[in-house]
Amino acid sequence: MKEPIVSAEEVLMDKVAFPLLDEGEMQAAKTCGRLERYEDGQFLFQAGERHGDFFVIVSGGIEVMGRMGGEERLVVTHHPGGFFGNINLFTGRPSDVGCRACGPTEVIRLSVPDVRNLVMRSSGVGEKWMEAILHRCYVLNARGVEGLRVFGAHTDAATLELREFFYRNGLPHNWIDTADAKNAKLLEELGDGALQFPVIARGHRVLMQNPTLDAIADQVGIHRTIPDKVFDTVIIGCGPAGLGAAVYAASEGLETLVLDRVGPGGQAGASSRIENYTGFPAGLTGHELAMRSYLQALKFGATFSAPCDVATVRCLPDEIHQVEMCDGTVVRTKTVIVATGVSYRSLDVRGLKRLRGSGVYFAATQVEATLCDKRPVHVIGAGNSAGQAAMFLSKMNENVNLVVRGGDLRKSMSSYLSERVDVNPRIRVRLHTELRGIDGTSELERVHLENTATGEVSVEESCGVFVFIGATPCTSFLGNAVHKDEKGFIITGAELVASGKWNYPGRVPCSLETSCAGVFAAGDCRAYTPKRVAFAVGDGALAVSCVHDFLGTYT
Ligand SMILES: Cc1cc2nc3c(=O)[nH]c(=O)nc-3n(C[C@H](O)[C@H](O)[C@H](O)COP(=O)(O)OP(=O)(O)OC[C@H]3O[C@@H](n4cnc5c(N)ncnc54)[C@H](O)[C@@H]3O)c2cc1C
Repeated sequence: MKEPIVSAEEVLMDKVAFPLLDEGEMQAAKTCGRLERYEDGQFLFQAGERHGDFFVIVSGGIEVMGRMGGEERLVVTHHPGGFFGNINLFTGRPSDVGCRACGPTEVIRLSVPDVRNLVMRSSGVGEKWMEAILHRCYVLNARGVEGLRVFGAHTDAATLELREFFYRNGLPHNWIDTADAKNAKLLEELGDGALQFPVIARGHRVLMQNPTLDAIADQVGIHRTIPDKVFDTVIIGCGPAGLGAAVYAASEGLETLVLDRVGPGGQAGASSRIENYTGFPAGLTGHELAMRSYLQALKFGATFSAPCDVATVRCLPDEIHQVEMCDGTVVRTKTVIVATGVSYRSLDVRGLKRLRGSGVYFAATQVEATLCDKRPVHVIGAGNSAGQAAMFLSKMNENVNLVVRGGDLRKSMSSYLSERVDVNPRIRVRLHTELRGIDGTSELERVHLENTATGEVSVEESCGVFVFIGATPCTSFLGNAVHKDEKGFIITGAELVASGKWNYPGRVPCSLETSCAGVFAAGDCRAYTPKRVAFAVGDGALAVSCVHDFLGTYT
């Protein structure tokens, strides 16, 4: 078996991922949890179990066991002062690893409410633990811990959708491209029977074949049973605006439910590097921002559920609103925050629809980037999102074409970015150029590009067309429940009053309130907003202060 990049001992040298609690913190943990004793080799829990507890080691040690290279192996040993507890504690997902005692061992076991209590008492524990959760993901990756395995071809749209769903929801997995001959042996290990792809497996055991996202979400614990109660606020959409709202709402004690049709991240989750977000001078990936915010909101007690496509909001002013999902589930809530953002427009080009997911993409994350190796790719668009996609893809690919309709990149792209694109030897900027068609049967093979200045059409090899050509608000599910502008962006606050659509003369709307009292809009789906991450996060936080105003719960 291939040896892991980092050994079980080396892992422990990372003091951010594997810190030790000091004496005061151990004392606080003892006060909040209960002491348990284990014999050598006895399991605290097995891989695949939904255990949902946090363990602090008092004496002895615990060995974390996980699948690496197809075998059950030691990932790391926690010693006294160390702790075990990852994101599954909050999400209720089955654990990818198991834990067993190493020698006679004493641990403090803490349930989710115990952990919240502990974090309140000792901010040091909270700080160490949150950073540890985030860093352990990278460290365990370097150790080669496999998690779930996804089998499917790089040309298969359903496999891509599944991988994106796992990526957005922070679920570690190992993708095996079944179209690649060198993976034939791994495929054989799944057994003789005919399989329907994509296949999800744990080790050699097939868990699901060609499942729906709903079925997967149930199996791996992403779907949560939504409690039957009246929420203070339901946040629809889990991009930066929804996440910003979730962190503030939950941290201020509001009963908060967050719904998303895919999972945390939104458009920002598709961004390879956000460089203009305050406090991160070196930039950070949209995925990292989303995962940090998701964890933070979970810590404060927000409930998340995905995939939940919201079909209707029944706005009942002065009553309890109803949010209905596509599967018919209805949730009741005192207020609603609509943070559904925008989706990237498609192009009306021959062949584009058919090859969506098999060479035509509307995001450029690690998931898509791995599909193209060194073959040429074409990014369509001239805004910041297109520029970032081109820059990101150029890290792995030396033949990136940026297809721009106009004649000057600086008109639509931030100057820092257009300058980087210009000097990047791996990116060829094609001004005055439009995509006219694409060829391919099961996967993209060629693109037809027209130079509109000369009328010349060139047919070129392409492995990926990445479309970033402007966006449409995701607000059609609201119907006429709230007032929108002619493009579908939601009008709120003073603009609503000016348009004569505010029907509550006794009071002034909050700046994010829609034409239905108690329903607020935040982020890109709201009219007159700059379409930026930091703005969306701020808008989400502001929406929570509007909720407090509306409910009269401002302290
Ligand atoms: C590739 C790319 C790179 C970018 N880079 C930058 C950058 O560097 N800096 C910057 O400031 N901005 C950047 N942006 C813009 C930034 O990402 C957006 O402004 C920001 O994500 C908007 O946040 P939001 O929460 O309002 O909406 P979104 O991020 O669009 O999130 C909306 C969420 O709502 C969900 N949703 C929609 N409809 C429904 C429904 N009916 N039911 C349930 N859920 C639903 C979606 O699944 C989505 O998760 C970039 C955008 C892209 C695409």
